Amino acid sequence: MGEHVVVIGAGIVGAATATLALRAGYRVTILEPATPGGEQAASYGNGCWLSPMSVIPPAGPGLWKKVPKFLADPLGPLAIRWSYLPRVLPWLARYLWAGWTEAKVEATARALRPLLIDAPSLHKALAEEAGVGHLIERRGLVYIYETREQFESEAMAWRIRRKVGIEWLELDADQMRQREPDLDRRYTFGALVEEGGHCRDPGAYVAALVGQAQAEGAELRAARATGFRIESGRLKAVLTDQGEVTADRAVISAGAYSKALAAAAGSTVPLETERGYHAMVAEAEAGPRTPMMPYDGKMSITWTDRGLRCAGQVEIAGLEAAPNWKRAEILRDHLLRSFPCLPRTLPAERVKFWMGHRPSMPDGLPCLGPAAASPDILLAFGHGHVGLVAAPRTARVMVAMLDGRRPEIDVAPFNPSRFVK
Ligand SMILES: Cc1cc2nc3c(=O)[nH]c(=O)nc-3n(C[C@H](O)[C@H](O)[C@H](O)COP(=O)(O)OP(=O)(O)OC[C@H]3O[C@@H](n4cnc5c(N)ncnc54)[C@H](O)[C@@H]3O)c2cc1C
Repeated sequence: MGEHVVVIGAGIVGAATATLALRAGYRVTILEPATPGGEQAASYGNGCWLSPMSVIPPAGPGLWKKVPKFLADPLGPLAIRWSYLPRVLPWLARYLWAGWTEAKVEATARALRPLLIDAPSLHKALAEEAGVGHLIERRGLVYIYETREQFESEAMAWRIRRKVGIEWLELDADQMRQREPDLDRRYTFGALVEEGGHCRDPGAYVAALVGQAQAEGAELRAARATGFRIESGRLKAVLTDQGEVTADRAVISAGAYSKALAAAAGSTVPLETERGYHAMVAEAEAGPRTPMMPYDGKMSITWTDRGLRCAGQVEIAGLEAAPNWKRAEILRDHLLRSFPCLPRTLPAERVKFWMGHRPSMPDGLPCLGPAAASPDILLAFGHGHVGLVAAPRTARVMVAMLDGRRPEIDVAPFNPSRFVK
């Protein structure tokens, strides 16, 4: 048995990392205070998109002009709570700066593309090995618009996508109608990215990966990591609310909750949460054949095994504030407007709302690399909007780092110390 690796957090990043570390010969313990793949994790309720084209960071040139609107409209697709503004200002400044120019956005896209490329195939292989191959589907992802002009208003994003090797098919009104007979006729243009895929149930997928890792010898401990015992720069143990767990190596993959753990390992990182919501309709009468993202709703609509899921919204309000369920109602209402065959009013028992925490770095890039206080502790969090799609490649990078090998992609842009001046 190889060195003992303690993986902290069993969202999709921790589950994939634990799986691959185990297969690379490490002894693996997973620390997770809740149910792996449970509702507490962003990995449970996301939009299910395995989107190798999601390389454009949330902030783009000129976004700063909209900040007053983000503060004034608590229900807009991006909102910042006034009470949270003082705390989030430094993060917000970096967030806006990261998208200040087209060149900056392109640099982010170039860094992200290798982390996301081939994600549907990598997920398919992981899922098949865990006996849940059917949860990963590869039938493309489509962005839909009311008019071609709306698509052209996003010219910068598509130009950059093209530069980093992403291709798409443009669909006119007739093609849209043929492909998506249930969709409201106001959508007359689509951009179909055929390399995209989706997961039919991310929560069940994470649970299956962890179950498979346990079957292959990993230990799952219901404990919350609180810190580390480090002696002369070497990790001796992970501290938890259930006592110490001796460890040779550790991977911090606790999603939006990783900041304090990173600090305990000597790394100060500007991790925030961009809160998001979903509304899910059980036994929906209509829906998309291909998962889609309407331009006017800025959300994803995807069939899942649990219902028709509509996910999106960005709310900057921290980890503690109560959910604002009006935001999930907005998603539900947009879903109903997009598919006229859905009943105009849905009984409450058919609609489920969820809120979760994207773990977001201001520059739209995760932190992947060693902690400042010990090379034995690796950081693997901060994937923001792309944690599901990025997880398998992240796990491969983590195992290469554990092995002391050069990772298969350039990890310099993900260096956790990039914010240290
Ligand atoms: C509305 C919404 C839509 C999204 N859509 C997509 C999408 O379509 N595609 C995509 O790629 N991404 C999407 N994302 C982003 C994606 O869901 C996240 O980036 C990803 O799930 C993060 O995974 P993670 O494993 O880092 O964190 P999480 O899934 O949050 O898991 C972290 C785990 O760590 C555990 N934990 C916390 N603290 C501790 C501790 N101290 N000790 C031990 N364990 C701890 C938690 O209980 C949790 O289980 C979306 C997110 C949201 C909110």
